[in-house]
Amino acid sequence: MTTRGARSRLRVGVAKLASCDGCQLTILDLEEELLAIAERLDIVEFPEASSLRSAGPYDVLLVEGSVSSPDQAAEIVELRRQAKTLVTIGACATAGGIQALRNWSDHDAFRTAVYPRPELVESLDTATPISDHVKVDAQLVGCPISADHLRELLAALLVGRRPQIREEAVCLECKRRGYVCVMVATGTPCLGPLTQTGCGALCPAFGRGCYGCFGPREQPHAESLARTFAERTTGPADVARLFAGFTAWTPPFRSIVDQHGGPPGRTPGGPATKEGVGDARR
Ligand code: SF4
Ligand code: SF4
Repeated sequence: MTTRGARSRLRVGVAKLASCDGCQLTILDLEEELLAIAERLDIVEFPEASSLRSAGPYDVLLVEGSVSSPDQAAEIVELRRQAKTLVTIGACATAGGIQALRNWSDHDAFRTAVYPRPELVESLDTATPISDHVKVDAQLVGCPISADHLRELLAALLVGRRPQIREEAVCLECKRRGYVCVMVATGTPCLGPLTQTGCGALCPAFGRGCYGCFGPREQPHAESLARTFAERTTGPADVARLFAGFTAWTPPFRSIVDQHGGPPGRTPGGPATKEGVGDARR
């Protein structure tokens, strides 16, 4: 297998938009592998880790966070221009994140309730995934991303191949690890049948239902699971709450949230209702 020599090391950057930095910390959490990574990749921009800065260009740019402000909307276009390969990392970057729950609400009302000088806060009505704004070449899902997925991505970059990341349900991980199914055993609602694996079925391992932080897998059959939840919960608001998590703005989960009255705590008049994405006021 041919690897890149020191002279042709890839120039790699890590950037962030609206996010908590947790996915960047997953990179730093690789700990003993970090030195080997730094020997093989030229990490020229990573403000979470170093004060050395580079404006690009980059062979590979990892970007964390959603697009939530006018500055970020402009910044991601410039970052895309500087990057040969752009990889979005984490639920914020790939799905809008928890902040996308505001997309169902009147953002101005929130701003006014929270800030004494709301006119000084420059933010967009919506928090959206990066792929809504620019072309994305690859993504790592999860809140935060999986260290195993990250290792696979970095290994693939080093040898110039496509990352091989499984796209199967959390349920399969439960079965492989011998965990008791929380839905069957205790009736606990669980998004595991719809959610992409990568976490090692962390929540079911502790007797909790999955709340979908890795986002929907391919062909997730969300309507069918929502019907099952509706039979086991006290009403549509409960079903909406189950889907209204870190990846609520992904189309399969968003559709269920829309059909069940929008996320908890929404205020009428948000962009989702204004633009007819779904009538959250039903
Ligand atoms: S995906 Fe989760 S861990 Fe990553 S930046 Fe967003 S909130 Fe933080
Ligand atoms: S079980 Fe679901 S909510 Fe829990 S860490 Fe895994 S993907 Fe996220």
